[in-house]
Amino acid sequence: MLRYYPQYCLSAFVATAILFVMYFMKRNFRTRKNRIFLIMLTDNLLASGINITTFYVISFPERYPLWADYLSNLVYLSIYNLMAVLFLLYVDSATKIPHMKLPVRIIAGIIACYDLLIIWTTPFTHLVSYFDEELNYRHGPLMVSLYVTAFIAVFTANIMFLRMRKSFNSYQVFSITCFVFGIFGSVMFQAFHPKHVISNFACAMALFFLYTAFENQAYYLYGDTPCYNKKAFIRTIHRMKKLEKPYGVLAVKIEEFENCIHALGRVGAEQLPERIAERISLEFGKMAYCIDGDTFALVAEEDLRGELLAQRLENCFDEPFMLKVEDRVLTAKIKPVMTWIPVSSVDIEGFEMAEVLQGLDDSISDGLMVVDDAWKWIQPVRREKEVLGILDRAIRNQSFEVYYQPIHEVMSGKFLCAEALVRLKDDNGKFISPEEFIPIAEKNGRISDIGNFVFREVCRFISESELIEHGVSYIELNLSPAQCRQRDLAEQFLKVMEEYHIAPHRINLEITETAEMQSLGMSKLHEIMKTLHDHGVTFSLDDFGSGFAALNYLISLPVDIVKIDKSILWQAMKDEKSKTILKHTMIMIKEIGKSIVVEGVETEEMAEILRNFGCDYMQGYLYSKPITGKEYLEFLKREKNSGLSVKEVENLRNLQLV
Ligand code: C2E
Ligand code: CA
Ligand code: CA
Repeated sequence: MLRYYPQYCLSAFVATAILFVMYFMKRNFRTRKNRIFLIMLTDNLLASGINITTFYVISFPERYPLWADYLSNLVYLSIYNLMAVLFLLYVDSATKIPHMKLPVRIIAGIIACYDLLIIWTTPFTHLVSYFDEELNYRHGPLMVSLYVTAFIAVFTANIMFLRMRKSFNSYQVFSITCFVFGIFGSVMFQAFHPKHVISNFACAMALFFLYTAFENQAYYLYGDTPCYNKKAFIRTIHRMKKLEKPYGVLAVKIEEFENCIHALGRVGAEQLPERIAERISLEFGKMAYCIDGDTFALVAEEDLRGELLAQRLENCFDEPFMLKVEDRVLTAKIKPVMTWIPVSSVDIEGFEMAEVLQGLDDSISDGLMVVDDAWKWIQPVRREKEVLGILDRAIRNQSFEVYYQPIHEVMSGKFLCAEALVRLKDDNGKFISPEEFIPIAEKNGRISDIGNFVFREVCRFISESELIEHGVSYIELNLSPAQCRQRDLAEQFLKVMEEYHIAPHRINLEITETAEMQSLGMSKLHEIMKTLHDHGVTFSLDDFGSGFAALNYLISLPVDIVKIDKSILWQAMKDEKSKTILKHTMIMIKEIGKSIVVEGVETEEMAEILRNFGCDYMQGYLYSKPITGKEYLEFLKREKNSGLSVKEVENLRNLQLV
């Protein structure tokens, strides 16, 4: 008669129970993976618990009725064999390989069904295990098949994991290896030393490694606080969408956060979000999220009213926050700016909602703002994603087009140059306005790809169409300041011009002053402009008069032409004061020796006024809309643009400038 040593199972039981307690002491964010982990823990706890009783039953079967002998044995086998299947599902939810989702479920389902079927029919078939006439416990011929199915599950899991191992750290790889070898090693060991049933204990150890390597809940927490972070928020919203349940989000911004930073200093401002996160998670528990330093959210899964939550939240901010800066303690009295976003019908993704929240205004407001239609807020975010998708496809396929808008030179009456304007079509062949996609490209780091495409395309066009023969001296291209982040921009442009045998003075780059330009720093921009300018490329200051104070750039940057924004011209057509401003602006620009282009010239009346003010170039629908390269060449022919040679026109212009 075989006597088993129960102490291994006892240790396994205790170890798993400790792990169980550890698991529940931490704040857990609910995911599929950690739910499976919890089932694995429960499984091992039950398996090791039941195993202890099973040992006694197997060791002294004569003391119990036969059905009880079988029952304890079958329950144990079922639970124990489930572990391999659970491991497979666990690895599946950790690796998240989309096309494996279904195959894994099928494999897991087949294995579980097979195991349970042969285990629970064994009292009649004796295929897995049985008690012989002397009531000795014996293995049946199909016992080995349980090992085979377990092997298949663990092996599949291991293959999946190895495929994705690059996205895991070495400790995670180690813990999975431990699981695989721990389980197989212990089973092998048991085969040779049947009294030493160590596999439950090996499982407990393997679960410990999994726990420390994967069940890292800090991943879903904000800093050192118990408050959930943006990742958790995104997953929660995703879950609500899948459940198709109405819910509400109370968005919380810190009022005038920029001012807060100034008042508290960098160190103080860094601590503030954590203090707030701690306080709101103490009050609201698992409802509270910190999206980033100045944006917080409460997600109300039940039908809670926004005002109620807002009231409770406001109370959280009654007491000032204590911040420790070096050896001083600062107190910060903060006001929350709250928006209640009820979501009832639209299917909103988590990242979209997070983006909406981050984009909310933090300016002073009284009371709670209530949004009636979450969709209105989501739409721009979704549109941006859509446009980005179209942009990326266009970048991959190089399917942008370049249109040209002829620019009229006042003195010669010729179309001496043109502005190249990029065009993008959506999947239905409809144009998307550059006003929409250029800012998106700038924001998402795609502008250089567009800029480089347009530059090459323009050089190709100048060279292939022999534009100079058509009386065209140069082409203007828009250069976004964000492109200047490309370190070797000047060298690249020069190389492309060389490749197409284009003299640099055939290119004029239009640069717009934006906030980006300021953050980039003048020296970088200046350096790039100077390199190109020294080679003969000329520059225009675009959109002059709209937005930023450009006078500073006018003095410090090597700018040859100033393009006055169409809004200035249009305003001047409406009132006398604006007209005076336009006139004197133009006089000023001329006095410092720059040429002037005015864009948006739509009527003969506008052209007449501009001529009187001493305008050099005019661009607008009066002459032509932006047109394709082919149409542009036809336009030039029609306008008999090559009547004077470029040289003559250029000389004429130079004469006028001196
Ligand atoms: P922008 O540089 O101010 O370009 C002039 C815009 O005014 C063009 O719009 C042009 O079609 C439009 N326009 C010209 N004359 C008239 C007129 O008489 N009436 C009216 N209503 N509009 C006129 P578009 O092509 O939609 O371009 C918009 C903006 O997109 C451009 O403004 C520019 O900032 C940007 N953009 C266009 N192509 C590029 C490019 O290749 N690179 C970069 N970085 N930006 C570009
Ligand atoms: Ca422009
Ligand atoms: Ca403009």
